[in-house]
Amino acid sequence: MSTLQNKVAVVTGGNSGIGYAAAEEFIARGAKVVITGRNRQAVEAAATELGSGTLGITANQASITDSVQLANELKTTFGQIDVLFVNAGIGSFLPVEQVTEDQFDETMNVNFKGAFFTVQKLLPLIADGGSIILLSSVNAFTGMPGASVYSASKAALNSLGRTLSRELASRNIRVNVVNPGPIKTPILAKAGMDEDNIAAFRKKFAERIPLSRAGESAEVAKLVAFLASSDASFITGAEYNIDGGLTIHELVG
Ligand code: NAD
Repeated sequence: MSTLQNKVAVVTGGNSGIGYAAAEEFIARGAKVVITGRNRQAVEAAATELGSGTLGITANQASITDSVQLANELKTTFGQIDVLFVNAGIGSFLPVEQVTEDQFDETMNVNFKGAFFTVQKLLPLIADGGSIILLSSVNAFTGMPGASVYSASKAALNSLGRTLSRELASRNIRVNVVNPGPIKTPILAKAGMDEDNIAAFRKKFAERIPLSRAGESAEVAKLVAFLASSDASFITGAEYNIDGGLTIHELVG
């Protein structure tokens, strides 16, 4: 399926989890892919593993300087880009009483402020008719205890997607938001949870998910690749839950 043939697609946080799977899916559909991440070695190793000329660029999404540098490198290498998948994000889960200013700032700086300025700095490079996809979470509109800052950082992205879809419609740039439920990636381990806690967390969720399991990164990647392609040419300002039915189950009990 060559729905992204000769398109240039940028994936922030593309060295792991959902971002890596999206990069794989974009490549399978014919795109030239650029992945970013903070850790140079991890980004370069992932780019090599992805193959097909994938370019790895080290850029911290929380740094506006890095986003400007990323835009410069993309301009020099490609001139313009067609798809921007703003995927990089971190999870940090604490009860409200325990949240520190540093934890608040780090989460907001990567997940929202960084996402915002990544879009702003790369926007001049996005071709008319291009596609922006913002990776949010079902946390954006659920009230999961311990996720106050994370959820707010994601809800801000959903709001941003709605506004951008209006602002960029005149250039036929479509902006959509994807809200995954629990997906099997390293994100919980990176948030400091040990294996037993992760297993217990997944089991608790699986009991509440109508499809009785966590999702796979590749399943999210297929939705993202659809939204990136002209198959989704009349879809903008939309958001998609991809959660095995979790959210609707929570709403109706
Ligand atoms: P992951 O930890 O495997 O991937 C996160 C990616 O973001 C990595 O490539 C990491 O290097 C990158 N990243 C983190 N901080 C960065 C920074 N400051 N600058 C650049 N890159 C940075 O986890 P994942 O689950 O694949 O997460 C991807 C996105 O999906 C995140 O935005 C996350 O909030 C969201 N999400 C995940 C789930 C889930 O259950 N896994 C559910 C809903 C939403």
